[in-house]
Amino acid sequence: MGQKNNNKSLSFSESVNFMVDRALTVLEIDSGISAALKACNSTIKINFPVEINGKIEVFTGWRSVHSDHRLPSKGGIRFAPIVNEDEVEALASLMTYKCAIVDVPFGGSKGGLLIDPSKYKRDDLQKITRRFARELVRKGFLSPAKNVPAPDMGTGEREMAWIADTYKHLHPEDINYSACVTGKPIAHGGIVGRTEATGRGVVYAIREFFRNADDVQAAGLKPGLGGKRIVMQGLGNVGYYAAKLLDEEDESKIIAIIERDGLLTNENGLCIEDVRMHINEHKTIKGFPDATFSENGAAGLEIKCDILIPAAMEAQITKKNAANIKAKLIVEAANGPVTFEADDILRQNGVTILPDAYVNAGGVTVSYFEWVRNLAHIRFGRMERRHDEMRGAQLLQAIESMAGKPAEDWMQKELVYGANELDLVRSGLDDTMRNSYQQLKEAYNSNDNINDFRTASYVVAIKKLVRSYIDIGVF
Ligand code: GLU
Repeated sequence: MGQKNNNKSLSFSESVNFMVDRALTVLEIDSGISAALKACNSTIKINFPVEINGKIEVFTGWRSVHSDHRLPSKGGIRFAPIVNEDEVEALASLMTYKCAIVDVPFGGSKGGLLIDPSKYKRDDLQKITRRFARELVRKGFLSPAKNVPAPDMGTGEREMAWIADTYKHLHPEDINYSACVTGKPIAHGGIVGRTEATGRGVVYAIREFFRNADDVQAAGLKPGLGGKRIVMQGLGNVGYYAAKLLDEEDESKIIAIIERDGLLTNENGLCIEDVRMHINEHKTIKGFPDATFSENGAAGLEIKCDILIPAAMEAQITKKNAANIKAKLIVEAANGPVTFEADDILRQNGVTILPDAYVNAGGVTVSYFEWVRNLAHIRFGRMERRHDEMRGAQLLQAIESMAGKPAEDWMQKELVYGANELDLVRSGLDDTMRNSYQQLKEAYNSNDNINDFRTASYVVAIKKLVRSYIDIGVF
């Protein structure tokens, strides 16, 4: 497929598919199979009425299943004032590749409801969410076995609890009802560490990149994350946790934060927790002390820095501003923040990009853990934690008796310890991000026609998808 000739911007799904085409070409996949891989299996559009303040309002929502070679199909539901069928389909396809890259055994799906959630009261939002969920259940687009939503832009654990409860009321006989959605509150079958998972996964991806000295050098960066100058776009759920960890644990410097209402800069680094508290209190970044504020948020993307992390939404770096980007490394925490045309320009300019389908897969990875936990009906670590602790104590005793002296305090602390659920979730997430990075790297190095991590990531995903389709006899 060639690039469009006219000046019209590509749609989100065209942009994703053109990027996927690069990998399909490298792999010399037959055009019929390529078309089958890229096509969304089914997309449902639902219009439903809800009474708000005594008046009927009609809402429109979509749920798209890109692939169901593995079930359930998985992906978030976003509530946003701009969402459409093309966007939902593009995001559903990204979910397919994402799950394949991180070896999460799910198909890809995504949903969207056209709404500005800030304009509705909590009780009205609950009515709307429950009604949308009911429609999805009735049409076969929501169940633990077939299609499992999760939080996305504009939704969180509150909405997931409403969705789970709606499903439970419709299917009380389904013993696995709580697995019909992930990202639920802990008290309703959620898993610890899910809320932070996407942001934490972003940081695990960056740390793994910095463990690979050759890749760091190729990107034109000096070794080590400490002191790196980072620009963060978006301090929502993903951006906040990623920035917080980079600031507090890796000692990187977040020199700029771009938000809806503008840009905050401080060459010495911003304290993320303080910025977040300011936003919570004032609903704006404006007026934050210890930083310079400017209304031109987009200018923040063009600041000279080591790492640029777009963690807001799609199409932020386009053919209009790509040539002005001065970051050495772009880490795509959002889905689709760099368009196909921009990607071309950035590659020509030698900017290294860690792609969305890998970088933000931490969310769905921990969703997978939550789903497994719901089907197992038991929290991870419940059986073995005290046993592991006891084995540690026995080991320590053995060491003490052989050494003929008491162990030091740190040994006591480190050895006599059984992992709790949060330790296990973080360990599983870290392991996933490290393994997948190595798979990307291996693909990158295996073929001279692969010149970027994005193509490498799609090569990894497509190989697994094709294998899976061949095994079940689709191709
Ligand atoms: N909405 C998130 C994403 O885009 C999470 C999906 C999930 O956990 O199913 O990856």
